[in-house]
Amino acid sequence: MTVDVLVCGGGVAGTMAAVAAARQGASALLVERYGFLGGNATGGAVAQFNSWQTEKGRRVIAGLASEVVERLRAYQAAGKHDVFVMSTGHRMDRVEYAPEVLKLVLDDLVTEAGVQPMMHASVCDVVREGEHIHAVSLLTKSGVIEVRPRVVIDASGDIDVLYRAGADFLELDAGDVLQPATMMFRFGPINFARFDALAPAEVQALARQGYASGELARAALHSSRDPYSADGWFNISRLGIDATDASALSRAEIEGRRQAWKAAAYLRRAVPGCESGRLQAFATQVGIRETRRVQGEHVLTAEELLQPVSFVDGIACGAYPIDIHPAAGGELIYKALGEDHAYQIPYRSLVPKGLSNALVAGRGISATHAALAAVRVMTISMAVGQAAGTAAAMACQSKSAPDVRKVDATALRVSLLAQGALVGD
Ligand SMILES: Cc1cc2nc3c(=O)[nH]c(=O)nc-3n(C[C@H](O)[C@H](O)[C@H](O)COP(=O)(O)OP(=O)(O)OC[C@H]3O[C@@H](n4cnc5c(N)ncnc54)[C@H](O)[C@@H]3O)c2cc1C
Repeated sequence: MTVDVLVCGGGVAGTMAAVAAARQGASALLVERYGFLGGNATGGAVAQFNSWQTEKGRRVIAGLASEVVERLRAYQAAGKHDVFVMSTGHRMDRVEYAPEVLKLVLDDLVTEAGVQPMMHASVCDVVREGEHIHAVSLLTKSGVIEVRPRVVIDASGDIDVLYRAGADFLELDAGDVLQPATMMFRFGPINFARFDALAPAEVQALARQGYASGELARAALHSSRDPYSADGWFNISRLGIDATDASALSRAEIEGRRQAWKAAAYLRRAVPGCESGRLQAFATQVGIRETRRVQGEHVLTAEELLQPVSFVDGIACGAYPIDIHPAAGGELIYKALGEDHAYQIPYRSLVPKGLSNALVAGRGISATHAALAAVRVMTISMAVGQAAGTAAAMACQSKSAPDVRKVDATALRVSLLAQGALVGD
């Protein structure tokens, strides 16, 4: 099978990449190992899109990400854009949504754009010839299918395609540990009038009490209200693993459900508004914050985000702070930004070193551990995905073999702006 743009991984980054590529006129095949799209956003049940703007209210994310929210609203499955106070005391804007309905929205987007979906398909092999990825094999229900793409976008989160292609990856610095995984769970019914009336200090005290007693694995009661029910999705388990280790990942699924079960009992016993609630559902899989990060043409650093550095090839912006969850438990390491602070992500951080026809989108881009702690969120992942898909389609306009390194960054920025995306200065 041949295709212009092969996108591996149908999380929010990969789905936006495939839709953007198809809307720009490329043929696009979107490969996903599960039977639905969304990755962490649906299967991981993360349930809130964070940080669309600076604290002062300057918008930094739009484009396809905004379209996703508009489409969720049409299904009455997204809350209003609001600001909440985090357990750290910081203010953060967000849109809460129903993860099950996001599956439908992503289905609609790919279908309307003419993307060919290939679900229940896992990347199983890659043929690389020098700097060129020649073929990607997929293990599917119809057997092994070999795809020969002009450009590959690796949006598998764990960057499985590039791992199999022998690409270079960034190491953790001494003292850094991979961000932990979390088993999200749905709990309800909740009396939100009482739950939302808790002052931030009361929430923090309850969270610390639950953590001290061993009932909570994390000193937080972080949750999203599901607009489709009287339930909340809770983000209060913590699993310090390398999720590319199959055995560790399997143990984490089991331990994650145990932690969620215990946390639900604590909510019911101790938290006002939760007295009548029960655990209703686990996320389909444990949510993964960080695994492999590719070595790209540019490695984005925390210092560049904090300064912030202005990039001539900036293709997306963000305002989410550096937010590191300690793997061993305890409270967040959180570096807030100034009240109107935003940063850019350069195109070169999507371009793996040493490969001519591959790009990365989502949580595997070329960024240090600390920088990824900011740019990993779904709003930014969607913006980066849109840029990757657009760049791949532009590279495919070449009559000869496409080279993503030759994409004109100014033309890419102009195209993204024309699509309604925001790219910074
Ligand atoms: C617990 C948790 C809480 C979070 N909270 C927030 C939050 O409140 N707000 C926010 O905006 N962000 C949050 N994030 C971050 C955000 O959810 C992720 O960083 C983001 O969803 C990453 O998107 P992605 O598309 O890059 O990767 P993923 O969502 O990981 O998607 C990768 C996709 O690739 C597929 N795949 C993987 N390997 C293969 C393969 N070999 N073959 C085929 N398919 C494959 C997967 O099934 C998946 O669909 C949170 C993350 C976690 C884990």
